[in-house]
Amino acid sequence: MTAQLIDGNALAKRIREDVAARVRALAARGTVPGLAVLLVGDDPASQVYVKHKVADCEGAGMRSLLERHPATLAEADLLARIRALNADPAVHGILVQLPLPPHIDAQRVIETISPAKDVDGFTVASAGALTIGRPGFRPCTPYGCMQMLASIGCDPRGRHAVVIGRSNIVGKPMAMMLLHAHSTVTLCHSRTRDLAAVTRQAEILVVAAGRLALVGAEHVAEGAVVVDVGVHRVEDRATVERLFPGNAKKLAAFASRGAVLAGDVDFTAVAPRAGRITPVPGGVGPLTIAMLMANAVRAARRRRGV
Ligand code: NAD
Repeated sequence: MTAQLIDGNALAKRIREDVAARVRALAARGTVPGLAVLLVGDDPASQVYVKHKVADCEGAGMRSLLERHPATLAEADLLARIRALNADPAVHGILVQLPLPPHIDAQRVIETISPAKDVDGFTVASAGALTIGRPGFRPCTPYGCMQMLASIGCDPRGRHAVVIGRSNIVGKPMAMMLLHAHSTVTLCHSRTRDLAAVTRQAEILVVAAGRLALVGAEHVAEGAVVVDVGVHRVEDRATVERLFPGNAKKLAAFASRGAVLAGDVDFTAVAPRAGRITPVPGGVGPLTIAMLMANAVRAARRRRGV
């Protein structure tokens, strides 16, 4: 048996179309949803993410406001910008691209964002709302993973779901969302003993460890649904050949671009065991931005009271 792929690009496209329709409906009533994106410093990966976020929002008819600040920006000045955006009625959502330079306290910055505009879902208010099951903005990556499960007809109810990774932006909210969807949830992390023995019990396995190819065939039960959140740029040929033996498409991509993307799951080893699996790229990644857009439209609709 070889797992069927879960197509994140196709699902993200459907979500973006739905968002665009909602944006048109709001615009017809005089509100164009506005997203402010703040980028501090010149981290190359952050530049790419921000570019995509802005382009996709504009593609759906939203207004975006991209603020670029030098890495030397003082924390107090960043907080002042956020307070100004909190008060700006044309801005419905505020996103501060992480990571921030080390002299800035990221949590203090996040807490300055008004919960009504917290489209990343990272404030304590949003995390608390998720924990007790109240309405609020959900962090985009795990929210996207939940959409992905729904799109393949995988009802988490009663199933054993195992999440690897306990970060505030992916692992913990993922576990909480699965719990609210009535899964029995196990949350694993770097101190978990005998990871494979735990993950082999999973009917749904979500991997967000930030470790290239951490999950191999020995970690996965036959027929499990495997969602790979990890993203790594692999820049050496030997690793590409080890991870994708005989995969002409990957090797050609490496030859032309000097790098390929790969996940926390060893796709070549796991695909023959899993029931369904997300690819990297083209799995979870596109959904993160789609859910950010969905959150931004929701912020605008809430302000309008619709
Ligand atoms: P993080 O570094 O904040 O957290 C990693 C977690 O994994 C930690 O809780 C740690 O305990 C756990 N972990 C690390 N090594 C482990 C091991 N050997 N065994 C078990 N657990 C282990 O990372 P994050 O921000 O949650 O991101 C995780 C991955 O997801 C990264 O590769 C990141 O690039 C990717 N990511 C992708 C998207 C997307 O849109 N596709 C969004 C966010 C993050």
